[in-house]
Amino acid sequence: MMTANEYIQSLRALGSRRVYAFGKKVDNIVDHPLIRPSINSVAMTYKLAEMPEYADLMTATSNLSGKKINRFSHLHQSQEDLVNKIKMQRLLGAMTGTCFQRCVGMDALNAMWSATYECDQKHGTTYHERFKKFLAIWQEKDWTVDGAMTDPKGDRAAGPGGQVDPDVFVHIVERNDKGIVVRGAKIHQTGVLNSHEILVMPTQAMRPEEKDFAVAFSVPANDPSLLFIYGRQASDSRKLEESKIDTGNITYGGQEAVVVFENTFIPWDRVYMCGEVDFSGMLVERFAGYHRQSYGGCKVGNGDVLIGAAQSIAEYNGAAKASHVKDKIIEMIHLNETLYCCGIACSSQGHKTASGNYLIDMMLANVCKQNVTRFPYEIARLAQDIAGGLLVTMPSASDFANEEAGAWCRKLFTAAPGVPVENRQKMFRLIENMTIGAAAVGYLTESMHGAGSPQAQRIVIARNANMEAKKKMARRLCGIEADGLL
Ligand code: SF4
Ligand code: FE
Repeated sequence: MMTANEYIQSLRALGSRRVYAFGKKVDNIVDHPLIRPSINSVAMTYKLAEMPEYADLMTATSNLSGKKINRFSHLHQSQEDLVNKIKMQRLLGAMTGTCFQRCVGMDALNAMWSATYECDQKHGTTYHERFKKFLAIWQEKDWTVDGAMTDPKGDRAAGPGGQVDPDVFVHIVERNDKGIVVRGAKIHQTGVLNSHEILVMPTQAMRPEEKDFAVAFSVPANDPSLLFIYGRQASDSRKLEESKIDTGNITYGGQEAVVVFENTFIPWDRVYMCGEVDFSGMLVERFAGYHRQSYGGCKVGNGDVLIGAAQSIAEYNGAAKASHVKDKIIEMIHLNETLYCCGIACSSQGHKTASGNYLIDMMLANVCKQNVTRFPYEIARLAQDIAGGLLVTMPSASDFANEEAGAWCRKLFTAAPGVPVENRQKMFRLIENMTIGAAAVGYLTESMHGAGSPQAQRIVIARNANMEAKKKMARRLCGIEADGLL
């Protein structure tokens, strides 16, 4: 396994890539102040794996090599593995206070493993063996891999084949005896610049005439055909300021970027789906299912931080003893632990797939994510309620540092006795960061749309509800045996 330091060096070793941020080309991503906090978050997944006290959560024994590997590249072998995944994500969410990005690869590898196996069974293809070889290297090298699913999709009323510009969906433009050539883009790519490899999957279920869009493959993240455009986050330019106090989270951050495939060549041994439209939707559903489970861990860890921040600011404000503040904190804890219940439940009710790895309970994973689209917003609302208006009106760190203005700032914003004004400043900024600033990308909007928008979960919930059985239960108790509708 790599150490955190080796991981950062391995990103340097990827060399110069075509990366744009704020309209400028970035030659060195590792030391860029906008990007480095997101690298620190991923590095935490390596650092904790080095620590013996976290070995049970952070590492696992590979079923492929028998070696100890980072859990982020593990094929879940049991329900206990699924539960440990959630516990690991809660831990990391609490350690970083943001998105640590590496889960998309873990969720993609587990979805790809079973989907390629079942596809081969039906179509006589050899995708599973190819993927197994790729995964063996992934585990050996301890890579971070970007699981890339979401296409820009263009006009939602038209399908992949009906777009004015076909590049709004990743598609095959050429097939030859050596491999395929693909064009298009993936957007919202969590941690893509901090990854060694990109594992691309189709974005949705495909129709028979959409074979060119039913494509899955892996590509090294430094392939010269790739172009990266960094995503903006609220308050991100504060990371470029000298003082880090106003960033709220002074060390860690998340990352989303666009990755463009400009006629990218993929050799056949890296292609894991090529036109099997009947497996496109299934792969999407499994990846999304695993990632909907994931949110029952990472968002809960973020919630732990926000609850701690709300309690701290209440203490700093001198309001912690007020009964309504205590009650609001209890409500935040209750909501946060409810999400954890969902993450644990869908994991402990997981089952073995035909390919041998474990899949979560789909109904419960979708209920988990549906709750995640709501509860963090309520937790954030309560944190803002407790914090007070200074959360959004407090002068900048530079004003506090100024001789004339700073003297007044320190005088006016000191509250509870014995608490340095700087602590209060920092805590306001952390809550701001998580509820309306850069980390609100991960804690709020991603809770809404990540791993599929709320409606996507409602479709799966409806499909798995077994309504016929429920109707029979009700009718049986009423003594109704048949009424022409059952
Ligand atoms: Fe991991 Fe959560 Fe970030 Fe997804 S949103 S990559 S599950 S930390
Ligand atoms: Fe996500």
